[in-house]
Amino acid sequence: MPDRYLSFTRTAPGRFLTRRLGLPQPAALHRWSPDRPALDGPLLALTAGPSALDLAPVLARTGPAVDPAAGAARPAAVVLDATGVRDVDTLAGVHAALHPVVRSVVPSGRIVVLGAPLDPADHHQSAAQQALEGFIRSLGKEIGGGRTVNLVRLTDAGAAESTLRFLLSPRSAYVSGQVIDVLAAAGPVPPADPGRPLAGRTALVTGAARGIGAAVAETLARDGARVVVLDVPQAAQDARRLADRLGGTALTLDITAADAGERIAAELPGGLDVLVHNAGVTRDRRLVNMPAERWSSVLDVNLASVLRTTDALLAEGTLRPGGRIVATASIAGLAGNAGQTNYGASKAGIVGLVRSLAPRALAEHGVTVNAVAPGFIETRMTAAVPLFIREAGRRMNSLAQGGLPVDVAETTAWLADPASGAVNGQVVRVCGQSLLGA
Ligand code: NAD
Repeated sequence: MPDRYLSFTRTAPGRFLTRRLGLPQPAALHRWSPDRPALDGPLLALTAGPSALDLAPVLARTGPAVDPAAGAARPAAVVLDATGVRDVDTLAGVHAALHPVVRSVVPSGRIVVLGAPLDPADHHQSAAQQALEGFIRSLGKEIGGGRTVNLVRLTDAGAAESTLRFLLSPRSAYVSGQVIDVLAAAGPVPPADPGRPLAGRTALVTGAARGIGAAVAETLARDGARVVVLDVPQAAQDARRLADRLGGTALTLDITAADAGERIAAELPGGLDVLVHNAGVTRDRRLVNMPAERWSSVLDVNLASVLRTTDALLAEGTLRPGGRIVATASIAGLAGNAGQTNYGASKAGIVGLVRSLAPRALAEHGVTVNAVAPGFIETRMTAAVPLFIREAGRRMNSLAQGGLPVDVAETTAWLADPASGAVNGQVVRVCGQSLLGA
């Protein structure tokens, strides 16, 4: 279902009319493409308060060229190191650094604020660091022009390199207003070709015959992975066609089968590096009208099968050390949605699974566990949403438009990167900073 309003605002009369009426002006987002793989301009590195981070060598490798003359050209990216902000006085350094430059950031530019973990023994430091969260969320809502604003909490710049590379690139076009902790004890990062970080790795994507799953499979294959495209028997033809195109294999399997994990393990005797739990369904009804079957079918596909297959693949040792699990939550699981008590419960369950399993899976298996939480993404699932709710979903976010499957896929690829070992237990919204939820 094409976004006709978005197309209308790209025409001269459409732009004129919607501006006169004060209606939203969705910007043309700069997404990654082989022709335009990097942001259009230099990176400006700023500091608020004292910092112990060794950031310069990392920024030099992350993408946009660092602007040596600080402010010579309009920046496409601004990185503000605020890890040294310890109290309200040093917090003023955030305003002092960004106030003069915020207007000059190019459209589809990036602002990334770096923060420190909250110190439970120091309520002044915790207050000032938590203040950064409200700051980036508010700036994200006012900055416009397809620009994004995110906060990364870290202690080691090197461990955050893959995260900065993602956030400072067109790949993160629909990720804004997020707080990402890069604090897990990561092992040594294996040397990799940044252009094909998943070379030599095997990735399995559930529900990959179409929609977001198909985009994830394509993006992981672009990054070098050998991809297994899993979907139900009814989608076998589409799954096979996609697998053939990507040089991977198709696996016809209903993920709710009791032995799904064992069958995947049998299919992959050489092991698995990346497991993407993407398959999902909706069966909307208000609770008063919801039969038990609608409840249980959604909970089974979206949550119980994720728990079962994860347990089986970890227990069988199919997921190799250095492995990555990326599950799919939803903003409906964070904010709730009328008519979706079953779906909201299943997706909130994913958040609980990720937070609980992540530290243990890393300690015991060397596997990270994270989730993406998509907002309104243009797929067949959202094309079925009634018109007015669909329009609200598209427009009620800081970027005033729906996301594309590739936006979720790029976020998944960053979490799947072998260099993302310090990113664990995170739930990253891919929602253009939707007004729903926090
Ligand atoms: P979609 O309906 O277009 O695709 C879902 C795929 O999962 C289909 O190919 C389907 O055949 C497959 N599938 C369903 N049940 C399965 C089963 N039992 N076993 C194996 N495969 C199965 O959906 P989508 O919009 O691409 O959504 C993908 C994921 O993203 C889902 O988990 C969904 O809940 C989540 N999500 C989507 C949005 C959005 O706006 N589209 C928002 C939030 C979350």
